[in-house]
Amino acid sequence: MVDAVYEKLAGALNARSTAFPAVKCDEFYDLVSFLFTPGEAAIAVAMPLGNATVEEIAQHLPTKDIKKLATRLETMADKGLIHIRERDGKKLYEALPFAPGITEFQLMRGIVDERHKKIATLLRDYTRAMIKTLMSADAPKLESFAPGKKIAVDKEIEHKSTIVPLEELKDLLMKTGYISVGACICRHQAALLGKPSDKPVNNCMILGESAQFATERGFTTRMTKEEALKRIEEAEDAGLIHSFANNPERFTNLLCNCYKDRCVFVRGISKSPFPSLAVNARWVIKIKEDDCTACEACLPRCQMDALKMVDGKLVREELRCIGCGLCMWVCPTDALVLEPRPAGKIPLRS
Ligand code: SF4
Ligand code: SF4
Repeated sequence: MVDAVYEKLAGALNARSTAFPAVKCDEFYDLVSFLFTPGEAAIAVAMPLGNATVEEIAQHLPTKDIKKLATRLETMADKGLIHIRERDGKKLYEALPFAPGITEFQLMRGIVDERHKKIATLLRDYTRAMIKTLMSADAPKLESFAPGKKIAVDKEIEHKSTIVPLEELKDLLMKTGYISVGACICRHQAALLGKPSDKPVNNCMILGESAQFATERGFTTRMTKEEALKRIEEAEDAGLIHSFANNPERFTNLLCNCYKDRCVFVRGISKSPFPSLAVNARWVIKIKEDDCTACEACLPRCQMDALKMVDGKLVREELRCIGCGLCMWVCPTDALVLEPRPAGKIPLRS
């Protein structure tokens, strides 16, 4: 029988989630009961939305032993279940969303052992069950999820897309004070499940304030801007799409570099009939026809199948292009350029 506290945890996770729903099913309970002890689940359920002091959290729990609660919160932070920040010398605690949040912290350390193999398996099984449930005719009604709309580094930058081409990304990294890097959870999970990737793995980044938390707790390693740029260029060479999953009001400023064979997010976009709509693409590739020699070097770089040859001529399918820019770096004649997508042409999700 499922402990009632894990049922309540599903609701609490959904109220906080920005991308990955908590769907009540056996696989969900297997996962959360492995990650949270019942006592930790009760604390996570009791934690209010946003930052709270230990005294404020204690108001929602039977315990009034502040010192003991603070110690348990520290353990939960080490397990990647909550986030802690300091403001004016005071510790503020925040329960993490399911993803981006808890799931990333379980695998970003890049550890290979039996515990992490078990987590990889539980996550895979839950993801499959969650997708199956949500695709079914009697799918439960869930709250709507809002993927990142802004990039909050040290200076908040308005942003309406999760896909960021290389040049823009370089600019953003230059404005970020604290950058940390860990293992890509998709490729690390695949490796733990016996399907290692031939792409570089250590290029999943956390930026800004949350990077400091992640580094101090050993989830990630701090990097200089130059080191981070090198990792991003390496990811670009390997054909990985750069995307942000972020929420400035919460802990998350996560920069992923991934590809559809290993990433459920990228794969999901690629299966959409209009990938550009799925990610609020702000850029679109343009073919300079006079410069294109039809060499086809760009075709395998596009994970969205937005480029094809028709009667010996390169053609772009506009609504399939997410503006990642991966294709243009391999063009020997500079026949591809990214252009801002005309405003109003795509009904952007608000
Ligand atoms: S056409 Fe180029 S920019 Fe557009 S999605 Fe494909 S690789 Fe990315
Ligand atoms: S790589 Fe450049 S020249 Fe070759 S087909 Fe693509 S756009 Fe044309």
